[in-house]
Formats: sequence, structure tokens, C-alpha cells
Amino acid sequence: MLELRPNCECCNKDLPPSSAEVMICSFECTFCRTCADSILQGRCPNCGGELVQRPTRPSNLLLRYLSQLSVCTSLRAARQALNLCSMSHLQERKIAMKMT
Ligand SMILES: [Zn+2]
Ligand SMILES: [Zn+2]
Repeated sequence: MLELRPNCECCNKDLPPSSAEVMICSFECTFCRTCADSILQGRCPNCGGELVQRPTRPSNLLLRYLSQLSVCTSLRAARQALNLCSMSHLQERKIAMKMT
């Protein structure tokens, strides 16, 4: 599965999974569109590969996938995903309860 990195490796801008302004290379080096178009000229500075738009992942699917993860990794992953989706603490608690 595609690793959804949370920010631009160049300017550190937050890049949520649902954003269409995210560019990645084949190694999943991740950049915002602004850096990719201007500074990087459409090329990954790490591997030289071309940068393409990262497919978006709707937050409801993200949560459904997380609920199927094994218990040992799920809580940490869920917390990360919840940070990305900026959901409320109440929802986070509900999900944590379902998983334990
Ligand atoms: Zn950037
Ligand atoms: Zn790269």
C-alpha cells in the first residue's frame, strides 16, 4: 500500500491524505505541488525520478482500513491517521475503544 507521508520533504508543509496538492516519486518521496513545480522542476531531488500527483485517500476509507489492522500496530497508526484527518478527541477515543 502507498505510504502517505504527512508533509513536504522540501518545505515541511502539511500534506493531508485527501489533498490533491501532493506530488510523489516512485519511491514515495513526497513534496507539495508548489515545491515540485518551482524549486524541483518536476524531478525528485533524492532519486531523480519524475514527480506525479499522489492519489488522494478519503478519510472514511482511511479509518475503515485502520480498523482492520492488527492490534499491536493499530493504535499508533490510528493516532497518526487521526492527526492527519484532524479529528476530535472524542472520535479518537471511540476508535481506540473498538480496537482494544
Ligand atoms: Zn513544499
Ligand atoms: Zn525520489
